[in-house]
Amino acid sequence: MECLFCKIITGEIPARILYEDDQVVAFHDVNPQAPVHFLVIPKRHIATLDDLADNDTTLAGHILLTAQRLAAQQGCSQGFRVVMNCNEHGGQTVSHIHMHVLGQRQMHWPPG
Ligand code: 5GP
Repeated sequence: MECLFCKIITGEIPARILYEDDQVVAFHDVNPQAPVHFLVIPKRHIATLDDLADNDTTLAGHILLTAQRLAAQQGCSQGFRVVMNCNEHGGQTVSHIHMHVLGQRQMHWPPG
């Protein structure tokens, strides 16, 4: 198993875990881009958004609602941003889908 995030799921690589259930894990990003910056990932290895299938609708919704609930718990009452990078032009560097959640600072648009 070569996937970095799969190793975080199994505990082989340590991470600051925020939340875990049977479908997803959320943990703080090692290189935070905002005072709050965590990632929500599915436990099942899915490389990119392009690999999500029609029967992943429930999982995709669960990732989003987990992000929303944890953002509230992390004090992002003034707002937050979710980002999912896909493949090279999307800026994806880890090939296991992850939703970034960033908050506790003013975001700007457009992103780089
Ligand atoms: P991407 O660029 O693929 O959208 O985002 C990957 C994210 O994973 C980056 O924000 C990066 O800081 C984070 N990351 C990479 N390696 C590790 C790690 O070993 N532990 C944690 N907690 N985050 C990581």
